[in-house]
Amino acid sequence: MKNDKKDIRALTKQQLQEFFVAQGDKSFRGSQVYEWLWNKGAHSFEDMTNVSKETRKMLQDNFVINHIRVDLMQRSSDGTIKNAVKLHDNLTVESVLIPTPKRTTACVSSQVGCSLDCKFCATATLKRMRNLNPDEIYDQVVAIDNESRLYFDKPLSNIVFMGMGEPLMNYNNVMKAVEKITSKDGLGMSPKRITISTSGVPKMIKKLADDEAKIKLAVSLHSAIDEIRTQIMPFNATFPLQDLKEALEYWYAKTKSRITYEYIVWEGINDQPKDAEALVRFCKYVPCKVNLIEYNPIDDGQFQQASSQATHMYEKMLEQNGITVTVRRSRGKDIDAACGQLANKSS
Ligand code: SAH
Repeated sequence: MKNDKKDIRALTKQQLQEFFVAQGDKSFRGSQVYEWLWNKGAHSFEDMTNVSKETRKMLQDNFVINHIRVDLMQRSSDGTIKNAVKLHDNLTVESVLIPTPKRTTACVSSQVGCSLDCKFCATATLKRMRNLNPDEIYDQVVAIDNESRLYFDKPLSNIVFMGMGEPLMNYNNVMKAVEKITSKDGLGMSPKRITISTSGVPKMIKKLADDEAKIKLAVSLHSAIDEIRTQIMPFNATFPLQDLKEALEYWYAKTKSRITYEYIVWEGINDQPKDAEALVRFCKYVPCKVNLIEYNPIDDGQFQQASSQATHMYEKMLEQNGITVTVRRSRGKDIDAACGQLANKSS
């Protein structure tokens, strides 16, 4: 029965070597199969051409490879690519490739749906179905790396965990995927090129600092005033700004790595000087920069991007206080691939 078989990629290299030894084979065979699974991205045991037929059959009888399948690839007029990714249990997530002249960035999902309920995010309309496994996260990156080589003639340069889900609520699997992405057995990418974006789960930010993962941290702040933040990101009632601040201070003390705050300015919600002043105060806690994100409307029309004057007011106030600020333009809007638009619409 298919369901009795184990997912072979849940095994570490050592476990795989031990499995072969237990079968009376050499531990080297484990390394060979491991390489097929991770370096060469084999989708089936049949692909493992330097492994004997009998061994392949034995593997087939004991294991499955739960590889993802890119079901639909859409290309935006600005070059952005969105993959609808089918998982082995038929659920779907999305990942995005964002090309710029200097780099190509993969935006990957960490969960199917999301358990948070940010009022402005399309993914929040899908309930959280399950966490992604490390190999499912890794596969999304490999698929985008391949597309980057194919369409842009260069390997993937950066990864952001800004797709579906809250990465810090699937901590272990996300970190296992990061380990694989950065290890020589996997893609050998530098952790400095990986950014985990979180809505701000204080306990997990501290854990991330303790684990010395060397990745970058981005926090979706959107308001530095508790009442407003709770209105638009209700989980702020459980993890208020004071707890977030303490966790970020802990993070910086341990890692010395500057934090990025993601921030959208909406009309009538956080477009007043008092809002920008609160952000400036928050920015003084730890070294940081602010990324002002363009709002990508989701269908219900409750939120509207603030006027350009309001955005300029923020920019000016931040700059006057010596805080680095960048403005992020949306990419891939025409195929619903922009921030906050991932909701499996095309599947
Ligand atoms: N859960 C994580 C990662 C996913 S969201 C987090 O909250 O950080 C990735 C980014 O897109 C976050 O900064 C989020 O606030 C932003 N975002 C969500 N909906 C958006 C929308 N409609 N327009 C623009 N950005 C949005």
